[in-house]
Amino acid sequence: MTSRLYDLKAMLPGELNQLVGELEEPAYRTRQILNWLYAKGVRDVREMTNVSKILREKLAERTRITWLHLVRRQESATGEAVKFLFELPTGQRIESVLIADGTRRTACLSSQVGCPLDCKFCATGRMGMIANLEAGQIVDQLLQVNHFARGRGEKVTNVVMMGMGEPLLNYSAVARALKLMRLKEGIGLGGRKITVSTAGYIPGIRRLMAEDLNVGLAISLNATTDQMREQLMPINRKYKIADLLAVAREFFARRGYGVTFEYVLMAGLTDADADARRLAELTRDIPCKINLIPYNETDADRRFRRPSCRRLEQFYQVLRGCRVEFTVRHSRGRDIDAACGQLYHRREK
Ligand code: SAH
Repeated sequence: MTSRLYDLKAMLPGELNQLVGELEEPAYRTRQILNWLYAKGVRDVREMTNVSKILREKLAERTRITWLHLVRRQESATGEAVKFLFELPTGQRIESVLIADGTRRTACLSSQVGCPLDCKFCATGRMGMIANLEAGQIVDQLLQVNHFARGRGEKVTNVVMMGMGEPLLNYSAVARALKLMRLKEGIGLGGRKITVSTAGYIPGIRRLMAEDLNVGLAISLNATTDQMREQLMPINRKYKIADLLAVAREFFARRGYGVTFEYVLMAGLTDADADARRLAELTRDIPCKINLIPYNETDADRRFRRPSCRRLEQFYQVLRGCRVEFTVRHSRGRDIDAACGQLYHRREK
């Protein structure tokens, strides 16, 4: 029943305008409602006290406001990462992370409960696919993380769709959420402050590329041969490394800025000198960034290990020798299982 009501938190200003018009109210109501939703963070239309009582009643009949129940919040020892565990009305649980890095405050958001792609090294992959999140549930993660940040006198400056799930397999909800995050009347994040990360679902990349969303795209490359990538990421059976490189070129041509290739370094699997050389070769004439992620170990599968510091250094050295520029992601929050690939949750009894 409730799901048939419009979710106010997922409505774009044009849609809200239309609803306000249908309810025979003046257009400025849209701005007031957005302000209540985003600046004040109300949970109930009845709290929108500068909106006429009649409109509040009409809105209450036709709409609802998504609100995720916060089950737990955990802070890492250094305070650089804060993990939020939310529960959906269905009882399923998802996680979001707030990451501090210099002056940047990044919210890492989930797009699905679990994930269907089954990447062998990823904790979320082991949950299997459970559900797609709604646009309002994606936006609310950001609103609640930002509310917490504001309590510390900070605010979220960046968003990465790198939490649980494959965002491009929940395209319409994710795209709608991204539009909402960019609203000037709302959170007002610039497009390039938002990055969508994909395991390499090419139809989704094409769709995103064609859209005027102006967000950054990261592609989880994670291996330099199809043989290895296929073992680690079953999606590679369908979309191969060469296809990803081609679509990255196309992305630059269409959008005028390059993609980021993420590359997870796993001991004995993806961290050889030969991998570094192949990585340099593969990306040589593609305008792109390379982000290396030393593997974050999880209890569940001991086959995947973080390379030693010496091995990591050596890998970086080979890349430098090939004159490749790259950044290394120092994952925050490993002590609270909030780092890349560690988000995993089963419903607790
Ligand atoms: N499904 C999307 C976004 C989620 S994962 C994607 O695949 O891109 C975000 C990043 O974390 C991906 O680059 C993924 O390869 C990486 N990752 C997954 N498990 C990891 C782990 N245990 N340690 C380090 N990085 C991991």
